[in-house]
This record gives sequence, structure tokens and C-alpha cells, in this order.
Amino acid sequence: MLKENRSTSIPKSTEKHVLYDKVVCGLCHKHYIRKKLRGKYFWQCHTYFYEGKDKCPNKKVPEEVLMKIYKKEHKTLQEIVVLGDGRLQVRLDHKTYNKKWSYRPERKKNGTKTSN
Ligand SMILES: [Zn+2]
Repeated sequence: MLKENRSTSIPKSTEKHVLYDKVVCGLCHKHYIRKKLRGKYFWQCHTYFYEGKDKCPNKKVPEEVLMKIYKKEHKTLQEIVVLGDGRLQVRLDHKTYNKKWSYRPERKKNGTKTSN
């Protein structure tokens, strides 16, 4: 039997991530967009993604780095600006501070197990 699609229901695609509109590129001032890469979410500059790194060489930031800040600061968080030098500028309602971040992607070892 055919069932009618309920067109009045809210489409899922409008759901926004909590960081949507909060992450800004410090080099070109565009918003960062969310991308999935090898099973992990990253945020990447809109310009970098669509126009290439010649236009904006800013780095992509792992979502967990941003979420850590979000979880701590969400009550007063305005924006997180990704500065080009490995720092994030966290803008709160009445305070702004810079935070260094680093991220080491997991590297595959030679597959040797040291223990069983
Ligand atoms: Zn940018």
C-alpha cells in the first residue's frame, strides 16, 4: 500500500549543527563548513573548500577541538575564529581569548601488536 508522504513535517536537512555559523575563518572571514573525512568531522574554510587553498590557506580544524570549546563556553559563546597560525580566537559575550590547538592525526602503525 502506498502511504502519503507527510509534506508538512519538518525536513531533516534544515537541522543545524550547534557550531553552524559560529566558526569563522580569520583569514578570509567566511564561515567554516562541516566536512566528514575518514569517519571524522572536520570544519574547513568555505573559501578553501570551494575555491582552493590559493584563495585561503587556512587549516581545517577537527570538530572535537571545536566541540571542547563549545561545551565549555556555549553559554556565552559568540564565535570561534580560526586564526591562521594554529590558534583559535574564542569570542564570548564579554571576553575574547586565544587558544592554541594541536591535533595529531592517528597514524597507522605497521600493524604489529605489542600485546595480545
Ligand atoms: Zn578562509
